[in-house]
Amino acid sequence: MKYTVPRGTKDILPTEIGDWQYVENIARSIFDLYHFEEIRTPIFESSSLFNRVIGEESDIVQKEMYTFTDKGGRDLSLRPEGTAPVARAYISNNIGRTGTHNKLYYMGPMFRYERPQAGRYRQFHQIGLESIGSEHPFSDAEVIALCYRLFTAIGLKNVKIYINSVGSETCRPVIEARLKQFLSSNLTKLSENLQKKYKNNPLKLLDSKDKDLQTYLSGLPDLRTALSQKSKDHFNMVLEYLDSLQIPFEYKPTLVRGLDYYTETVFEVVSDDLGAQNSICGGGRYNNLIKNIGGPSVPAVGFAFGLERIMLLLQQQNIDVPKSKELIYVAPLGNNHAMASIKIAESLRSLGINTVLEYGRFELNPHIKRANKLNATHMVLLGDQESESGTVQVKNMDKRTQDTVSVSDLKSYFSELKVSNHV
Ligand code: AMP
Repeated sequence: MKYTVPRGTKDILPTEIGDWQYVENIARSIFDLYHFEEIRTPIFESSSLFNRVIGEESDIVQKEMYTFTDKGGRDLSLRPEGTAPVARAYISNNIGRTGTHNKLYYMGPMFRYERPQAGRYRQFHQIGLESIGSEHPFSDAEVIALCYRLFTAIGLKNVKIYINSVGSETCRPVIEARLKQFLSSNLTKLSENLQKKYKNNPLKLLDSKDKDLQTYLSGLPDLRTALSQKSKDHFNMVLEYLDSLQIPFEYKPTLVRGLDYYTETVFEVVSDDLGAQNSICGGGRYNNLIKNIGGPSVPAVGFAFGLERIMLLLQQQNIDVPKSKELIYVAPLGNNHAMASIKIAESLRSLGINTVLEYGRFELNPHIKRANKLNATHMVLLGDQESESGTVQVKNMDKRTQDTVSVSDLKSYFSELKVSNHV
């Protein structure tokens, strides 16, 4: 039997991992700048957590969760997103006990049983953050500013930030009623599925791709007028902060996002270079989520972006990912030099310099071939002549220069590299 990777998943190979680590490292350093701290939660949680947080009616809960019963009869699901687990962990560990603002981030795989296509997987990877504890509009603006800084630091071009407000739980029924009334004359012309949405979650109609519905929606009055004064003020302040931080954004009245838990601000980052699956990042405020799953009443705002789509953009936009640092290839030119070579390799490693030493090759040409394949920056060659004189040959692969260096001076010869390796 021939085993293949499960449909909708992929192996991330050493040839591509540099791009992943590049993005992960930038994300970590930017999270540090804003003092977000990492949290790691389990890959699976009780199914009822997701049903409650994401909503029984949502596509994710209805169709996309990887749900199973474990040997102890527990109903569990692989996490389809990161906010519910972080909110659960916030409550379980009483993270908010000091009453302070908690800023958390996570990285890892998520699972949704969706139809695979370019940029859409069944196991995909998200990096996300949750800023828990502040209702202030500055908190919304801060996470959007961080998001913008992150994508700019990665080097992404032509990304757009769309923003909208879906209001608080008190304005939601007013918005829904206005929308329903506006669409009522066309209700019977909608598909069964859309009619169900009309009944259960009318806001979801706003971002439907259905062409007829889009026509019926044209001329829809600005739903911002249905927001309460408090929600309007909040949203306007977020936009003012973004303006003053010179973050480019566009107000998009039809933006509602796929997850039901959002209140007030919602936002999305898209790239037109991606085709159908053009959303890179989604986020927003969720003031009731933690309370709804048994925690304190604490407001929060967050976002998550998908790594697979960022990888596609790195390729499509020819973004120059810096290559990894120095790599020394130690080449014994004969089995009798293996011992001395191991010692040299170990002493370079104790200097913090990445070093490879491969066994079973003792001739110059195969060594050079292999060193080039590995993108080694230098070779350290050790043959009979060198052994007799207590030296080695150091070949700089880029500059194509070669120096004779005494073994005892090798550490100081490479100490410059040690410095550049650790920055
Ligand atoms: P969401 O959790 O649905 O708000 O999605 C946030 C981000 O995760 C999206 O903007 C995508 O970049 C990414 N994403 C969501 N679903 C998938 C998927 N099935 N495959 C790849 N990336 C995804």
